[in-house]
Amino acid sequence: MHIENEIKLNYDDVLIRPKRSTLGSRKAVDLERGFNFPNYKPYVAKDVLPDGYPVVQKQDKNFRGIPIIASNMDGVGTFEMADKLAEQNIMTCLVKTYSIDELVSFYDGDIDNKRKDFVAYSMGITENDEQKFKTVYQQISNIKYVCIDVANGYSERFIDFVREFRMSYPNVVIIAGNVVTADQTQELILNGADIVKVGIGPGSVCTTRIQTGVGYPQLSAVMECADAAHGLNGHIIADGGCNCPGDIAKAFAGGADYVMLGGMLAGHDEGGGKVITKKYITDEMSTGTTRKIEEKKFVQFYGMSSDAANTKHFGGLKDYRASEGREVLVPYRGNVENTIQTILGGIRSTCTYAGAKRLKHLSKCATFVRTNSQFNRTYESTTTKM
Ligand code: 5GP
Repeated sequence: MHIENEIKLNYDDVLIRPKRSTLGSRKAVDLERGFNFPNYKPYVAKDVLPDGYPVVQKQDKNFRGIPIIASNMDGVGTFEMADKLAEQNIMTCLVKTYSIDELVSFYDGDIDNKRKDFVAYSMGITENDEQKFKTVYQQISNIKYVCIDVANGYSERFIDFVREFRMSYPNVVIIAGNVVTADQTQELILNGADIVKVGIGPGSVCTTRIQTGVGYPQLSAVMECADAAHGLNGHIIADGGCNCPGDIAKAFAGGADYVMLGGMLAGHDEGGGKVITKKYITDEMSTGTTRKIEEKKFVQFYGMSSDAANTKHFGGLKDYRASEGREVLVPYRGNVENTIQTILGGIRSTCTYAGAKRLKHLSKCATFVRTNSQFNRTYESTTTKM
């Protein structure tokens, strides 16, 4: 047995120190990023002028957009969410459970390449998953991003799968995960991944740490994996554990190229979950002697390894497995556009505090200070609006 004594950090263990800045307004902050990928080999149209000289065009980036990704979870990674977020150049990882026909018709209806550029197909590593992808891919050519997603990215079989998938599909961007350490991040990139998904156990509806005792403090995982990936021209996604815009900003400041969100994007119309109304008797009197009744709307949300997800998609948990996810009710929040606006406003503000004109510069500009009290909770239980 071995103990690592170095302190590892979560998002709520730090704050970002404000710095003198020349930025006039939040509006001036550019949240878009451009990335090229190390292992992706896109087909390039070989344009040739009539005299035989090749047309030399400025090579644009493989990705250009706001590097936030909706997670491939029920109630989040839906077609409707993907289309809505793509309008703002934000990505979505689709849930794994769409059928072949649904996927083909979704990608077929891609009129402006937004689905190609901002949607990732998700899959596991079973033979069925491989066969399903092959069938979909034979019918449509505009799948650019594929997320190979397993709970434990440390198995040899996973690395072998990524390597073989890369050889079979050189012209897709491979997202692979989840891992939390620099060595496995490098291993994945050296075996063909372009973007590594980082996070074991931090998710809002994840119970892996409770069930297994396994995990890694998320901010440190992001910082260490980002450093390893960038050394190989790869990229990382900070996946899980962001509960507020400030956490997303801390992930970017810690070196994340993308941030993936589950819970923060749950509870919206685009997720397609059923809206449940609950009634509460309040302390307030409505007429002389009767108490006021208040209605609140919720949407069910659950982890993809929870009992609920296993029952919905696989007819129940296999008897050798335990649930590693929670089932919760999240407040119904209407259209996702308002939430996105709040998130982007928060990150823009972080950049102005830290003196970063572009999101790209945030990790260079930011200094973390360690804290054991992230914010003032005095009025937390009686807050009426935030
Ligand atoms: P959140 O943004 O809600 O904090 O975290 C979202 C992430 O939690 C997902 O992208 C995924 O990596 C992870 N996740 C989703 N469902 C489960 C689950 O049932 N168990 C575990 N361990 N992780 C989950």
